[in-house]
Amino acid sequence: MHERGILFVLTGPSGVGKGTVLKEVRGQRELYLSISATTRQPRPGEQDGVHYFFLTREQFEKKVAENGFLEHAEFSGNCYGTPAAPVDAQLDAGHDVLLEIEVQGAMQVHQKRPDAVRIFIAPPSFDELERRLVGRGTEQPEVVRRRLETARHELTMAEQFDYIVVNNTVEQAAADVLAILRAEKCRAARVQVK
Ligand code: 5GP
Repeated sequence: MHERGILFVLTGPSGVGKGTVLKEVRGQRELYLSISATTRQPRPGEQDGVHYFFLTREQFEKKVAENGFLEHAEFSGNCYGTPAAPVDAQLDAGHDVLLEIEVQGAMQVHQKRPDAVRIFIAPPSFDELERRLVGRGTEQPEVVRRRLETARHELTMAEQFDYIVVNNTVEQAAADVLAILRAEKCRAARVQVK
């Protein structure tokens, strides 16, 4: 019998660089990424079943009613959720799983799975977050404005998480996340001494 995998949650405001940090982390360590469902439109280059499962609002609500999500939240006018079954299948197989999700959803995971390890990625400053979000150029100005408003509120919740990693540079933030993943593997409660 192998040990169950660890559920990691990586969160933080939109534009903070969660995706970039994660890419760097995954280059250095094997980690199963959950594929979320969303009702937002695909961006150019995004593929169904790879980046997200793109659902209609009706399909999404049906899955909510069936209790099919580990967590779900509305963010910037769209719904996002983590399908529960694939996550549990990977954890049961002994693989560590990481969810890259927004802050409300990350708080829900804590209620449902108190043993999940939750990491909050914070920007060096709010001004820097604004610069990154505008610079990314993937959203309309109104969407950017809404996401920044949400971010201001999200930053006040950072201290409720297990770890805060400040994303000064991608390399440093990824190294911090890797250190957390490694330390959590050695937590006394998880290690069986034979
Ligand atoms: P985007 O539209 O830029 O892909 O994602 C917007 C936000 O939704 C990001 O902060 C992203 O981490 C978050 N997100 C992606 N998937 C999920 C999910 O399954 N659940 C929740 N709560 N947030 C998600």
